[in-house]
Amino acid sequence: MADIINLLPDNIANQIAAGEVIQRPASAVKELLENAVDAGATEIQLIIKDAGKELVQVIDNGGGMSETDARMCFERHATSKIKSIDDLFQITTMGFRGEALASIAAVSQVELKTRKKGSDVGTFVEIDNSFVKKQEPCQTAEGTSIAMKNLFFNVPARRNFLKSNTAEMRHIVDEFIRVAMAFPQLQFSLTSNNQQVFYLEKGSLKQRIVAILGQHYNAKLVSVKETTDYMNVYGFVGKPETAKKTRGDQFFFVNNRFIKSSYLNHAVMNAFADIIPADSFPLYVLFIDVNPEHVDINVHPTKQEIKFDDEKLMYAFIQSAVKHSLAQFSVTATLDFDLDPNIQALDAVSKPFTAEQQMESTNSPLYKSFTQANQAHMIDKSSSSSNLKHWKDLYEAPANTDSYVTISPVIDDDDDEEFEEHQAQQATASVIDERWQDTSNDQKVPVQVHQQYILSQIKSGFILIDQQAAHERILYERYQRALLEMPMSTQQSLFPQTLQLPPADAALINEMLPDLQTLGYDLEPFGNNTFVVRGTPADIRSGNDQATIENLLEQFKHFSSELKVNRREHLIRSMARNNAIPAGKILSAREMQNIIDELFACSMPNVAPGGKFTFISFKLTDLARMFERGN
Ligand code: ADP
Ligand code: MG
Repeated sequence: MADIINLLPDNIANQIAAGEVIQRPASAVKELLENAVDAGATEIQLIIKDAGKELVQVIDNGGGMSETDARMCFERHATSKIKSIDDLFQITTMGFRGEALASIAAVSQVELKTRKKGSDVGTFVEIDNSFVKKQEPCQTAEGTSIAMKNLFFNVPARRNFLKSNTAEMRHIVDEFIRVAMAFPQLQFSLTSNNQQVFYLEKGSLKQRIVAILGQHYNAKLVSVKETTDYMNVYGFVGKPETAKKTRGDQFFFVNNRFIKSSYLNHAVMNAFADIIPADSFPLYVLFIDVNPEHVDINVHPTKQEIKFDDEKLMYAFIQSAVKHSLAQFSVTATLDFDLDPNIQALDAVSKPFTAEQQMESTNSPLYKSFTQANQAHMIDKSSSSSNLKHWKDLYEAPANTDSYVTISPVIDDDDDEEFEEHQAQQATASVIDERWQDTSNDQKVPVQVHQQYILSQIKSGFILIDQQAAHERILYERYQRALLEMPMSTQQSLFPQTLQLPPADAALINEMLPDLQTLGYDLEPFGNNTFVVRGTPADIRSGNDQATIENLLEQFKHFSSELKVNRREHLIRSMARNNAIPAGKILSAREMQNIIDELFACSMPNVAPGGKFTFISFKLTDLARMFERGN
């Protein structure tokens, strides 16, 4: 009998293998851009024709290749980046498999021009379906130009699989952005059908983000930066108000490699959970630098998925880093005044962890590699009153009664025009000056507006607080503390009420009992879907317990469908919403003052859980501008 096994010819074997690496024009874009980065280029051009179906070309000013390398680079497993299996665990380059160029050459027509730094002549190589058609010396700039033409010309079935030009171009732009975002220190350009789509100057990460995603992010980025012995996290997140209805501008890079990780995404979303509306997506561009020993980037052929040796630690760390920076933003941004960000952050940073997360991460073997200074979640709670102290500064009377001094703190940027404008205003307004001085002390008493808002004067103008949203924030943080540290005190009812609930609600309450207990509810199951309410949280207006708890259940169910946060989070949010002072309630001056004091002692005073602003500030400068007619 004749033998039936053949070895496939190289070009066919390459074509098959290419399927893993090059699925569409965008895959070639990624590989070619990464090669240019690996080659040490500082300027990289991407040229596209017909959504990459006709041409994907990358021109770089990197190290270039010798004559032999120019030919070798198209061989399968030809790489200059690793030599042994051990190197795989110390990868610092973007590529390492030596498969990209072999794959590209197997499914297209390739023209390579390259010249090594210092050589006076370059090399031209033309390849068609894995076969070298031409190799000759040529004149060319230092660096490398690789043109991939007519992708899948020799594999018609796969060519037919390509999507519309719009769809393929979208993929190309995505890949371009991912590489360009990761290397803001390099110049990138993208030209499509002879039209320039992107021209990205070398610059800072912030400049790069704005250049790519749009000018509107310019004043809306909050920087994230945490450094430890184990890993560093840095980058930017968007301020809560930039969160979008569709997922989109979200980027993670591990050692400069774009990755997709729903797990880490969740960590960021969690950090945002109580300050943005449900179902909205914040911008983030976060870089994680970690010793390559701790990651396995080899788990997926296109290397977008990644495995960390300690995922929980990673999660906790990312969440904490983002919370930390949001807290700083929360405290400093709305009212623009300078305070020590380190101190400000302490209280907020002590909170990102739930009790379970804290347990998990402290049990982690890598936990101990955190440096002392960065054990953010372990920070002493005794510093938690620092917020309050700083917020008091807002209300301090000006050191000098000269009205000019009163106005000057709000001129926070070096805007000369604004400065002059105010001097002019001031000169013509001496009557108002006097009145201002006379009444400045009395005005500190907060005023209720429409039984809904609290108007409170601060140094730089005034703020308008939404009483309900503010109280919701206060209660939310109080409950959060109760769950983490000390249980709330319970006020025992003189006449315990009996609660009769539908079976589904009874089941829900049963599950929530321990947490309800911590939060100050004393409920006892009495069989048959009945509970006896023996006590309620001491600081909650007593009234109809049945209604309160039914209301709580409703809120709880309402929130469950809204946002995927854990059960305890639901519970405290529901309670905060349920127990907050409603709009329409008349408040005494003392009650208003309490709300103000407590609000500003919160770690995130400016938004309610759920994203609504708790207060809006009005600056004297803005008010003055409004009074000026015609401009
Ligand atoms: P890998 O990047 O995994 O090593 P590739 O197939 O992408 O594999 O590239 C093979 C080799 O060709 C690289 O290791 C590198 O030595 C060389 N090479 C590829 N592109 C360039 C370039 N733009 N400039 C200089 N050398 C390059
Ligand atoms: Mg490569």
